[in-house]
Amino acid sequence: MSNVSEITNCYGCGVCTIACNRKLISIELDKDGFYTPRISDRERCTDCGLCTKVCAYQHDDVLMNHCEPQGFAAWSTDADIRHRCSSGGVGYEIGRSLMRQGYLLCGVRYNAEANRAEHYIAATEEQWAASVGSKYIQSYTADALSKIDRKGRYLITGTPCQIDSLRRYLRTFHAEDHFVLLDFFCHGVPSKLIWDKYIRGVERHIGKATHVAWRDKTHGWHDSWAMSLHGDTDEKVYTSRVSQGDSFYQLFLGNQCLGKACYHDCKYKHLSSAADIRIGDLWGTTYKDNEKGVSALIALTEKGKQVIAATETITLTPHAIEVITEGQMNHRLSYPTIMRPLQLLLAKTRVPITWQALVSRYVNKLKNKLHLP
Ligand SMILES: Cc1cc2nc3c(=O)[nH]c(=O)nc-3n(C[C@H](O)[C@H](O)[C@H](O)COP(=O)(O)OP(=O)(O)OC[C@H]3O[C@@H](n4cnc5c(N)ncnc54)[C@H](O)[C@@H]3O)c2cc1C
Repeated sequence: MSNVSEITNCYGCGVCTIACNRKLISIELDKDGFYTPRISDRERCTDCGLCTKVCAYQHDDVLMNHCEPQGFAAWSTDADIRHRCSSGGVGYEIGRSLMRQGYLLCGVRYNAEANRAEHYIAATEEQWAASVGSKYIQSYTADALSKIDRKGRYLITGTPCQIDSLRRYLRTFHAEDHFVLLDFFCHGVPSKLIWDKYIRGVERHIGKATHVAWRDKTHGWHDSWAMSLHGDTDEKVYTSRVSQGDSFYQLFLGNQCLGKACYHDCKYKHLSSAADIRIGDLWGTTYKDNEKGVSALIALTEKGKQVIAATETITLTPHAIEVITEGQMNHRLSYPTIMRPLQLLLAKTRVPITWQALVSRYVNKLKNKLHLP
């Protein structure tokens, strides 16, 4: 394949858009609510092959640079940052430390106008604050990536598939040295159709959502699969946790609405990563009583080790990799052959999302009872 025009159901990372010298590639939502590349003017494509060269989806391997990995339990020394971040706030602190060394930071914020997560570039600590907290939807990358100057110094954070493509892109253009790449253990990304339906339902109660947090720690870190949305009607706030049956989380964590590539084609479980640093939630037994939030932090390259050592605002406790990865999903998800198409079909109808979540709950209960994967 010499260009991305025949690719469907890919990772939607958007790196092909910056590899194309002729700027012929854009990223659009497909009918199931996932980002996908489109070539606007096929006639002008010279079939140079750069877009497929940088595409992680087109390669079987992961572009790893690994040294002996070093694992830590880690958290920000700033209690407020730790509280606002998903686990221990290490993603934020690593960025802040690199910014003080002259780096620009490329992370993900939530754009409430467009109801979407998007990569953006932060040049100040104030701007970087918008990256705090995981946004459990696929991020739109193309605009931010187009602003990256290959001669500059950047930290880029993202899903493992986004980072794998970026590593390929930087290596192709001999620019790896100026960049630090950070990914996380990734469950997968749910369909934007599901998110749009969820937010439409919430907005009936609170007006237009102006602020969204996916990990509200009010009830502690272990119960922080918790949505908190602020609306523009009388400053109303909507909160809902998975432990109370939140419908978005049931569909997302029940694996019924993820990108097709997040099932069979995810190559990035455990330590399989093209990043310098991998982060995540340090679930498992060691910190089971901690309710403030503990990040899993793994240095995968020599550069990653140096960056972590230079981050003065995190508390670090070294652990064996088995301890760090204990609570993670270490295998690929099996594809829910009937449920995923059904849930995505229902997402296009007026069936309330609470009913969709109910279906998800019963299917998963049944699967557990029958010991099905
Ligand atoms: C879709 C998704 C799935 C995840 N799955 C797992 C998992 O299975 N296991 C696990 O341990 N952790 C997972 N994480 C990571 C986890 O939610 C936390 O990001 C991690 O614990 C680090 O938290 P933190 O407190 O350091 O910082 P945070 O402040 O939460 O930093 C998060 C970093 O992630 C980036 N980010 C946020 N949303 C997105 C997005 N949609 N796409 C790309 N980058 C984003 C931000 O730019 C920021 O740099 C996932 C994150 C996402 C976005």
